[in-house]
Amino acid sequence: MTTAAFKKLRRAVFERAENQCEGGCGRWITPDDAHLDHMFGRARRQESVSNCWALCITCDTAKTVNQPSAAHWLNRFIVHCEEHGYLPEIEIAEARLESLRAKGLTT
Ligand SMILES: [Zn+2]
Repeated sequence: MTTAAFKKLRRAVFERAENQCEGGCGRWITPDDAHLDHMFGRARRQESVSNCWALCITCDTAKTVNQPSAAHWLNRFIVHCEEHGYLPEIEIAEARLESLRAKGLTT
């Protein structure tokens, strides 16, 4: 992805967020004090408006270390995708949750 394309993506995500953390914590954010998080990892899928979300530093840090759990963040991302109608991303997140369940990692 080019720098210009990434800037455009970042702008679109932050516009959608309307200055509120999309991780569900309710904190107010600005593009200067929040992170653009790629839910599924940059190496696996091209970043897009539907698989990136704007997270406050607290949520971004917690998600990075899977606190309280990876399943928590997948569930939160599913809620976020449902709000915005990102159906393919919901399927990916559900598949990941299923994989965690199969390993007994959802408690
Ligand atoms: Zn947050």
